[in-house]
Amino acid sequence: MIYYSTKRQAEEASLKKALFKGLPEDNGLYMPEQIAKLPQSFFDNIGEMSFQDIAFEVTNALLGEDVPAEEIRKIVDEAVNFDAPIVNVVDQIYSLELFHGPTLAFKDFGARFMSRLMSYFLEKGEKLHILVATSGDTGSAVAQGFFGVEGIQVTILYPKGKVSPIQEQQLTTNGGNIKAVEIEGTFDDCQKLVKEAFLDKELSEALNLTSANSINISRLIPQSFYYFNAFAQLKREGYKKVVFCTPSGNFGNLCGGLIANRMGLKVENFIAATNANKVVPVYLKTEIFQPKPSTATISNAMDVGNPSNFPRLLELNGNSFEKLTKKVSGAYFNDEETRKTMKTVFDETGYVMCPHSAIGYQALQDYIKEQGGLGKKTAGVFLATAHPVKFVEIVEPVINQKIDIPQRLQDIIDRPKVATLLPVDYKLFKEYLLSEVEAV
Ligand SMILES: *Cc1c(COP(=O)(O)O)cnc(C)c1O
Repeated sequence: MIYYSTKRQAEEASLKKALFKGLPEDNGLYMPEQIAKLPQSFFDNIGEMSFQDIAFEVTNALLGEDVPAEEIRKIVDEAVNFDAPIVNVVDQIYSLELFHGPTLAFKDFGARFMSRLMSYFLEKGEKLHILVATSGDTGSAVAQGFFGVEGIQVTILYPKGKVSPIQEQQLTTNGGNIKAVEIEGTFDDCQKLVKEAFLDKELSEALNLTSANSINISRLIPQSFYYFNAFAQLKREGYKKVVFCTPSGNFGNLCGGLIANRMGLKVENFIAATNANKVVPVYLKTEIFQPKPSTATISNAMDVGNPSNFPRLLELNGNSFEKLTKKVSGAYFNDEETRKTMKTVFDETGYVMCPHSAIGYQALQDYIKEQGGLGKKTAGVFLATAHPVKFVEIVEPVINQKIDIPQRLQDIIDRPKVATLLPVDYKLFKEYLLSEVEAV
């Protein structure tokens, strides 16, 4: 399969190139030239298929030209080794819980899949070094996702004192092929060091450096699996149609849904829900796309003022605003509304949501009201993007109740932290990398 850039100024790429390069030279985004439709038999049988079987069929349709079926089976079985159940919250509204993976957020799907696909494409004996700067969530998903993957080493930079204690544990307790570097500076300083390393030809070639950027095409593919799998679960409950609501920041998760839709999954409507960083909901109303500096909110994983996957939303809809808005509507909420939703839903149903998921719930409720209700055979599904315990300091005071810590998180909290402390100094950082990392 050929991958082209959404800006159409860069050379076309193979899957391997798009995977390792991440970004085309023209700063567009890679897209596959074709998105295959799945056969009707797939949708007829989907109710009887396991999550892994669904993931296999979807991946095989998208990547089958480039990766043999038995390898796809292995990649998928390792990447999708935890569930994404739907949970009924109220009436016809379901929560699609995407937080049963190792770092308790949906980014585990993308990181686990990307790592295994990269490992497959490495030549025998070839080594790859992933360098990431993180402000928290992406880094922990990448650290966990690449843990133990053959041929790949990972170095994660994070700003000292500026990630949550749980996130720091998730970044610094992996060991093995994962190294954590604590930088005496801000997230921007971390990013600058990483950028400089990539531009440093000598270093970049010596270590075979690659990023694990969230715009990597390989992260979108697994983010379509759970839309199909949610539909399979709904089918078993007797539903025929679905509305999905996706809490969004960079809009990669929503792109996963739109890919599923292009592959033939029937979706009545998508709702793109954001916090105060509302450039996309505003765009969907006005056709004016106006990126802004980001605003800090309690749903901080969605604090994005210039969503990186925005061009893909259009690209997946034939670059037609009309087509896009026929399928996708927008909504946004401030922190006060988000807190109110978390509280009301907890008081009325006992269901606990993280702030991001609460935004998804509220947007879905409002949509259903506007429509005057859902059809009898239609379910509304919001994506629960993180476990509420990840945002415990926000959620507990709102619902006035302690949240249980899942065992897999407790295990991480109990492990000793290992990180190297460095100042914001490129020379020292380079020396560290050259001494710590096996050259290739
Ligand atoms: C990353 C993240 C989001 C936003 O997802 P996008 O794909 O960037 O739109 C939402 N919620 C949580 C918890 C996240 O970690």
